[in-house]
Amino acid sequence: MATKITEECINCGACEPECPNTAIYEGGVEWEMNGEMHPAIDEDIYYIVPQKCTECVGFFDQEQCAAVCPVDCCVPDPDIPETEEVLLVRAKELHPDVDIPDPPPSRFRT
Ligand code: SF4
Ligand code: SF4
Repeated sequence: MATKITEECINCGACEPECPNTAIYEGGVEWEMNGEMHPAIDEDIYYIVPQKCTECVGFFDQEQCAAVCPVDCCVPDPDIPETEEVLLVRAKELHPDVDIPDPPPSRFRT
């Protein structure tokens, strides 16, 4: 599952720098992927780009945004269920120059 930010977000900004995939953006800010800009997914609160979120698979054994969020509003999105395998492929695609360990750090292994 991709992680999503719920309406309880208080716009503190703590999560954004913690994401290994730069998948988190402030409300109203365009998001970027492979040099292409895309319209903001949310105008009012921080949001996560599902195409860039790996649930931190490949880098950490826990979702870093959820770990730092003071109001616990970074949660799994039940509408976007994804396997560890899919998320790991995404991590490798997003970071072709990074040597991701095998087995990878993963919330599925804790
Ligand atoms: Fe980024 Fe990890 Fe949060 Fe996904 S779960 S948005 S990869 S910090
Ligand atoms: Fe919103 Fe939580 Fe991120 Fe703060 S850490 S901006 S409250 S999602």
